[in-house]
Amino acid sequence: GPDWVGRPCYEIMQGNQQGACSFCTKDQLVKDGRLQPPCVSEVRNARNQRWYQCISKAMWWPDGRLVRLEIAIDITEHKEMERFKDELLSAVSHEMRTPLTAVLGYSEFLMNNPLPTEEQQPLMEILYREADRLSTLINNFLHLQRLKARRESYDFQPTVVAGLFDQAKLTFESRSPKHTLIIDRSGEMLTVLGDPEGLQLIVDNLVSNAIKYSPAGGTVTMTAEKTGDEIVLSVTDQGIGIPQGETGKIFAQFYRVDNTDRRQVGGAGLGLTLAQEIASKHCGRIWARTNPEGGSTFFVALPAVAVPGASALRQ
Ligand code: ADP
Repeated sequence: GPDWVGRPCYEIMQGNQQGACSFCTKDQLVKDGRLQPPCVSEVRNARNQRWYQCISKAMWWPDGRLVRLEIAIDITEHKEMERFKDELLSAVSHEMRTPLTAVLGYSEFLMNNPLPTEEQQPLMEILYREADRLSTLINNFLHLQRLKARRESYDFQPTVVAGLFDQAKLTFESRSPKHTLIIDRSGEMLTVLGDPEGLQLIVDNLVSNAIKYSPAGGTVTMTAEKTGDEIVLSVTDQGIGIPQGETGKIFAQFYRVDNTDRRQVGGAGLGLTLAQEIASKHCGRIWARTNPEGGSTFFVALPAVAVPGASALRQ
């Protein structure tokens, strides 16, 4: 079009840039009068900040002109995925080392030191706990990666909230004698539309955090109530709480509140990101609050479904 004719490409494509781009391939397209093979490069556009794979080739147009053919494929998502994977790997590999060291150390000790059963028991418990920590980390990691790559498919169905709470209680109760898990039964029949496995991951991550960040023990309370068209699930603990100004940030990928001054609690900063991603795939929301009396509450709002006799659906 008239806007383009006679103007250098960098002015139009790169937003009125002065002078050729540093990555320009123009000089490589024709050498000694001979057309060269295509040049392939990855370029970030200054105008829209997106990444492109550019394939440039000089060619003779049928009307006799020597023209430059440029194919630009938007690879922004691919680039972001690559960056995400790098960050994920470095965060997770660091977090994996601690439980793995414990598993290797304790199992080696048990192999080389035959102990009476009652002395083995506490060591076996540590082994189990650390292996379990590793397994949760890997599950979260894989699920998040599948979500980011849009490879996670959900099976939406009416799911009874009490069933999710019961499962979380079953999973976590035996692991921590210092904590009491309470389910408020007033929301017993409430039913949300969602993927049971995905929703279980949200609840499990919240309950696991509630325990993890209450190192002195206490109660963890799970409730559900209907507000408008939504069911709001909540998990409340009596733990260390979240400092002022941090409640909005903790859902960001790899974000962890610095807790070195309080108690060193391990983690990769993925659990809440995963919970938020799953909630948003369910058209839901997730948020946190620090309670004045101590501890914190995490809320998840999900679309409600009215199903008669819902309690029989998933228990
Ligand atoms: P991780 O626990 O692996 O660090 P999460 O994404 O689950 O990652 O949590 C992010 C951060 O949010 C944690 O590092 C912690 O500081 C804070 N957090 C999460 N849950 C709680 C909780 N129940 N009480 C206090 N802080 C919490």
